Amino acid sequence: MKVGVLALQGDVREHMSALIACGVEPLAVRRPDEVSHVDAMVIPGGESTTIAQLARIFGVFDVMRERISKGMPVYGSCAGMILLADEILDAKAGQETFGGLDITVRRNAFGRQVDSFESDISFRDGSTDLIRAVFIRAPWVERVGVGIEVLAEVDSHPVAVRSASVLATSFHPELTGDHRIHRYFIEEVARVAIQQVK
Ligand code: GLN
Repeated sequence: MKVGVLALQGDVREHMSALIACGVEPLAVRRPDEVSHVDAMVIPGGESTTIAQLARIFGVFDVMRERISKGMPVYGSCAGMILLADEILDAKAGQETFGGLDITVRRNAFGRQVDSFESDISFRDGSTDLIRAVFIRAPWVERVGVGIEVLAEVDSHPVAVRSASVLATSFHPELTGDHRIHRYFIEEVARVAIQQVK
């Protein structure tokens, strides 16, 4: 499986390391032909408006949007979650997203309470072990559409959600050295979605 990490801004290197630890060889993706070439993608944490603007400048915006809408498996953390949401609250004027996930997210939602925090939360992947979640000016999910599964919550706000081919977390598993979420994406989301297409 060829897994690309959108490498325009944000914590690209940390996602690359997590993917390597899961046994895949990631590719840093910046050009439209690279987006077309990979089987699955990761959108890193960073700044969602900057990533969207750079995606326009680098000419990858439309091909990202199209491939995601056609079922390419994608995982987005934090800013990546915002970029995958069909609708954003507290967006910057004119802020665009790739979309693909029928959810509404509020940007910097926890920011009004605490800017950044860490918490041990449960993640519904079948394991009862808690997972360390790092939140940095994180969004939360305010609405989930039909067919969206909530995998984790903090104070009743969904912070990890998935559809058949798209996974998104408000937090940054790439920063903790625990690769459970990346492994879940590769094994339970990407491999399954790719298998179904074949
Ligand atoms: N607040 C940032 C945004 O709106 C996301 C922060 C992050 O990725 N850690 O893009």
